[in-house]
Amino acid sequence: MKVLHDHGLAPYHTFGIDVTATQIVEAENIDDFIHIWHDSSFNNMAKLVVGHGSNLLFCEDYQGVIILNRIKGITLKETAANFCLHVGGGEDWHQFVHWCVDRNIGGLENLALIPGCVGSSPIQNIGAYGVELKDVCQYVDVLDVITHEIKRYDAETCQFGYRDSVFKHQLKDGHIIVAVGFCLPKIWQPKIAYAPLNQFDIATVTLQQVFDTVCEVRKAKLPDPAVIGNAGSFFKNPIISKIARDKLLVDYPAMPSYGIDNQHVKLAAGWLIDQCGLKGYQIGGAKVHPQQALVLTNVGTATAQDVIQLAQFVVDSVAIKFDIALEHEVRFMAANVETNLAEIQA
Ligand SMILES: Cc1cc2nc3c(=O)[nH]c(=O)nc-3n(C[C@H](O)[C@H](O)[C@H](O)COP(=O)(O)OP(=O)(O)OC[C@H]3O[C@@H](n4cnc5c(N)ncnc54)[C@H](O)[C@@H]3O)c2cc1C
Repeated sequence: MKVLHDHGLAPYHTFGIDVTATQIVEAENIDDFIHIWHDSSFNNMAKLVVGHGSNLLFCEDYQGVIILNRIKGITLKETAANFCLHVGGGEDWHQFVHWCVDRNIGGLENLALIPGCVGSSPIQNIGAYGVELKDVCQYVDVLDVITHEIKRYDAETCQFGYRDSVFKHQLKDGHIIVAVGFCLPKIWQPKIAYAPLNQFDIATVTLQQVFDTVCEVRKAKLPDPAVIGNAGSFFKNPIISKIARDKLLVDYPAMPSYGIDNQHVKLAAGWLIDQCGLKGYQIGGAKVHPQQALVLTNVGTATAQDVIQLAQFVVDSVAIKFDIALEHEVRFMAANVETNLAEIQA
């Protein structure tokens, strides 16, 4: 197993912040993970499993072992009604979606071009264009690094929520997602309620059309992390009560909101940030994307501190204008433990 020592992390996370890790190692199978967790050369060191680092902000050099999940493999079985896929956690998410579309297996096309690994997809229940991972996930296989047991969690046990799951809570530490199972109906049901997919006729739209449109729109709308460092949507869309929304509508009648249940609505965090006039706002090398206010970018020279200060400025601006507390979706890593904006600024 090749181990990199005191190595730059920039190639391993999409923000491209210039930080290092004590060690970086690739795990290609379950035995590699068990070995890394128990081998004396890695003992007593903090450990962080990373897919493609597309939802991470390293706030400082990582004092521990970064373990890149590279468990590969796609197995397809068919029942009369469904395609059943068992996919290694280290497979690239978009390549997997593409693989399915090439075989005329529908269900994942709305989630095309989301960066990251299959094994990370359940953690924040990735979602786009009206589909979330929870809609297609049958099970998640998880290695307990202490007992070496692999347990299968069905979708209900995963407690999927908006950008949330059990893997951010009870199963956060010492649990590694090694594979994900998908169950996709053979009779394809296009999900085209969201613009721009709503331009299509449900009776005639093809799987390829939905996939191509999602890819085109995402390429046009979102900065490519290979060119401009970023971690996608930096903040979650805030969920507030309908009563609070109605009060805000008095001053901001154009404010978009989306019903969640009888009492709650989701607001568009990007719209709130844009209303604060922050598109293009820059601190050091960190900049609010000029077209997508929800995306904080690294213009090339950003330090983690630049991004932290910019994130705090955005949070403060939205709090002052709307009395709404934005929560970051991006996971913040300190020297050897996860942290968050409030903790860093305290
Ligand atoms: C340009 C861009 C667009 C994006 N668009 C979307 C979008 O439309 N919808 C959306 O939901 N997200 C989006 N994201 C966020 C991101 O793509 C997802 O969160 C993705 O699932 C992260 O995958 P990753 O492999 O890069 O995870 P990483 O960033 O490597 O890891 C994220 C967290 O999961 C943990 N982790 C990773 N793998 C494992 C594992 N196997 N077992 C246990 N823990 C693990 C890590 O320790 C870390 O805490 C976008 C990001 C970018 C950069």
